[in-house]
Amino acid sequence: MQIPRSDERRRNLIGGEWRPPSTGEHEPCLNPADTREVIGLWPRSGAADAKAAVDAAAKAFPDWSRTPGPERGRILGRAHQILKAKIDLLAEALCREEGKTLTESRGEVMKGLNLLEFYSGEGFRTHGKTLPSETRQSLMLTLRQPVGPVTLITPWNFPFAIPVWKTAPALVAGCTVVLKPASLTPVCTHLLAEALVEAGLPPGVINVVTGPGGAIGNALVDDPRIRAVSFTGSNSVGLKLYERAARRGIKVTCEMGGKNPVVVLDDADVELAAAGILQGAFGSTGQRCTATSRVVATPRIVSKLTEALVSGARSLKVGDGRDPSVQMGPAVDESQLKTNLEAIAQARADGARLLCGGERLRGPEHDHGFFVAPTVFDDVKPGSRLAREEVFGPVLAVQRASDVEEAIRLANDVEYGLTASIYTSDYFAAMRFVEGAEVGMVHVNQPTVGGEAQLPFGGIKATGVGEKEMAEEGSNFFTYLKTVFLDYTGSRRTTNIY
Ligand code: NAP
Repeated sequence: MQIPRSDERRRNLIGGEWRPPSTGEHEPCLNPADTREVIGLWPRSGAADAKAAVDAAAKAFPDWSRTPGPERGRILGRAHQILKAKIDLLAEALCREEGKTLTESRGEVMKGLNLLEFYSGEGFRTHGKTLPSETRQSLMLTLRQPVGPVTLITPWNFPFAIPVWKTAPALVAGCTVVLKPASLTPVCTHLLAEALVEAGLPPGVINVVTGPGGAIGNALVDDPRIRAVSFTGSNSVGLKLYERAARRGIKVTCEMGGKNPVVVLDDADVELAAAGILQGAFGSTGQRCTATSRVVATPRIVSKLTEALVSGARSLKVGDGRDPSVQMGPAVDESQLKTNLEAIAQARADGARLLCGGERLRGPEHDHGFFVAPTVFDDVKPGSRLAREEVFGPVLAVQRASDVEEAIRLANDVEYGLTASIYTSDYFAAMRFVEGAEVGMVHVNQPTVGGEAQLPFGGIKATGVGEKEMAEEGSNFFTYLKTVFLDYTGSRRTTNIY
């Protein structure tokens, strides 16, 4: 297992073989901190490659679906061991393909490893229920069975953890997989696939195809042999994909955007709140679905809080994440950089008050990458774009509320519903927020970011449709429930048959 050289032509994994793309085309993966650095050349596959991957997944399904769960789990367990021995290599690959700092990259790798470990155990635990019957001498139960071959489509912002959190539950549930990573970040997905193959996954159980989503996405969703689609990414792509999959009546999970608020009440510990907000807003360069993008603060704390946020944001060292002193990396590409700068310009035009940042960083350390200064705006109006739309960059909006009730109203005043947090020492206010926040995940005195393998992850409203990911729910998505009626009277029934 190695990080590809700059001139290495990678291949798709189809039916256990590494095959060149039918198009003959490749594209480079660039380090967003220094675009002079190329990390391999990646297949720009076409619909024929997608079809070949589905062929392979369909062929492998009958045998894999009948493989005992514990055996499926053990293969994940071996992959976990293989990858655990390569943490440094994986973290470096992730840092170079996505731009996260090495510390953040290691954190993401650890999260992916925890998920593999968790799902390796799920092979022993997949279960239905036994239920009482209306009739005597009957046994009623439910079985969980794999839905079939599935398509998994992942974004660039968690290039190791998200491919793991979709692939591991699908495999342990008994599904075969076609995995399409984001074109910007294919490296860690390939390292994951290599480990799964080395761990003993039979040919065709996992297939990896890289290439533009616009060119191969439909072939991966419309194929009648695909029985479920799990997608993480933007709302614009996710909702179209949801519609296509719904037309075929197959299972879909789409995890999409967020506009996550942190409410800070007057009685909060201001240092704790500022530290959590800085971590949530500028960690991973704000390129997290769970990033803190709004602060809603009450009158007696707001000045102290914004002072602490500005001083923290100004002190962050921004640069190439391979330098251990760097605390924030670049935007992932030029297009994301442009989105950040446009959002900043729009916020200014809408009358928000720029407290710090607000520009592209220039100089010898920054000229070859896509670096934006950590940015904080105050007085962001509730209806304005910065208050409502996801930026997916290091841009934080501060809003003011008179009390907890108004803070909850403002926190909920967006289309999205992924995660939210409150900082307060008032137990009653905290519980009021836990109950009233319109989100899939809520934190008290913690940043908005984070998730653990055993906890269901996902959002509501415009953020998510379908089953939650991770945890037991994550693998349940890849199964259907079969209800089984067993009769042991051995004779014709006379009563209680409905
Ligand atoms: P994106 O542009 O929607 O891309 C996501 C994936 O979809 C990529 O693999 C992409 O391939 C593929 N794709 C593009 N067009 C497609 C099509 N027509 N059919 C099928 N697949 C297609 O999103 P992104 O920019 O990578 O990721 C950022 C977004 O992800 C943000 O909105 C963020 O909030 C969201 N996100 C959400 C969560 C969550 O759990 N809620 C977690 C992480 C990220 P290409 O790369 O080839 O275009």
